[in-house]
Amino acid sequence: MKESVKIAIVGAGLGGAAAATLLQNAGFEVEVYEQAPEFSRLGAGIHVGPNAMKVFRRMGLEKQLEQMGSHPDFWFSRDGNSGEYLSRIPLGEWARKEYGASYITIHRGDMHALQMSSIKPGTVHFGKKLETLEDDGDQVQLGFADGTRVTADIVIGADGIYSKIRETLLGVEAPTYSGWVAHRALIRGENLVKFADEFEDCVKWWTEDRHMMVYYTTGKRDEYYFVTGVPHEAWDFQGSFVDSSQEEMLAAFEGYNPTVQNLIRSTENITKWPLLNRNPLPIWSRGRLVMLGDACHPMKPHMAQGACMAIEDAAMLTRCLEATGLSDYRTAFELYETNRKERASKVQSVSNANTFLLKQEDPAWVYGYDLYEQDLTTQNAN
Ligand code: FAD
Repeated sequence: MKESVKIAIVGAGLGGAAAATLLQNAGFEVEVYEQAPEFSRLGAGIHVGPNAMKVFRRMGLEKQLEQMGSHPDFWFSRDGNSGEYLSRIPLGEWARKEYGASYITIHRGDMHALQMSSIKPGTVHFGKKLETLEDDGDQVQLGFADGTRVTADIVIGADGIYSKIRETLLGVEAPTYSGWVAHRALIRGENLVKFADEFEDCVKWWTEDRHMMVYYTTGKRDEYYFVTGVPHEAWDFQGSFVDSSQEEMLAAFEGYNPTVQNLIRSTENITKWPLLNRNPLPIWSRGRLVMLGDACHPMKPHMAQGACMAIEDAAMLTRCLEATGLSDYRTAFELYETNRKERASKVQSVSNANTFLLKQEDPAWVYGYDLYEQDLTTQNAN
């Protein structure tokens, strides 16, 4: 491991991996430090909107993602009890034509593995949990839990909702528990064959205080996935997630449409996660430290745009550093925040409200956005 690096990215999640590839492709020297000893294919799906697919196009990964993912023609919203359609949001060919890229749903582990393979070999360092961070004005000293240290010209905090970089900039503060949990389960396609139900490509079942979002995670439709939002007073469990069960879910979704009940009965493993949050942060950078993704704007996941925002952040930060050069990183960080904060904060607030696409609406402001077509502005919109 080098002792002195130009750009250190802390966290190789969906946002950090995107930043590494984009910055390396732009010619910057980047090293990535990830606390996990390795990554495994965790059981979860993800939507990738056309706005993020345009960034993947820039990385050269769009075609592979298109081949791997499922391409829903619609996002359907349905009443959880009656099954009535509340909205039919066109995606598929419509998205390609109107928004300029595909809308896909995919296994997040498959997408992340592809992202990791696009980072320069030897530049991701696993088992590096950042513990200390000192910006002395000339350089930043990073200290890891294994006792190793490096110095960096700048540090990008892509280290998620419990960000050490956020803590260094703004102090210790636990994220807020939103009062909702998410159940997640991957269902093997063959488990669904026995049912007569039509399992739609991308559908969100809603009732007043809870919902279930369901979609395929592969183009072959051999893996189906659901994620819920269910009120639960306090996260009174140990760990970042716990096991759930069919019994618990059948009780939570009692009275729901039979298709939902059958889905629950088709599961082999169900996990339960707290939905966490933070208020918008007053700053996104200071000195040689800057943040992206969940480190600076975590949100409830109901727009399916959290990772897309992290990926857009990575692209904007790269554009700004390219525009100023690394030595003028302060101007780059200011430009980055000015050109990102309004959009990321709007998505954060709409996502937290959990109203997006419940009724028929035009999502062009989210999906039609092309980061590379935006002029860089030095004026804050507010
Ligand atoms: P993370 O993905 O959290 O990555 C942070 C990385 O930093 C991790 O690898 C972690 O190990 C590492 N790290 C943390 N601390 C340290 C440290 N001290 N030292 C070194 N490394 C460290 N988004 C979408 O766009 N579409 C969706 O459909 C969608 N569905 C979701 C469903 C649920 C239930 C949830 C909870 C979220 C969903 N999201 C979705 C949001 C998305 O998962 C996050 O917004 C996204 O993962 C944020 O990426 P990130 O890189 O900022 O952080």
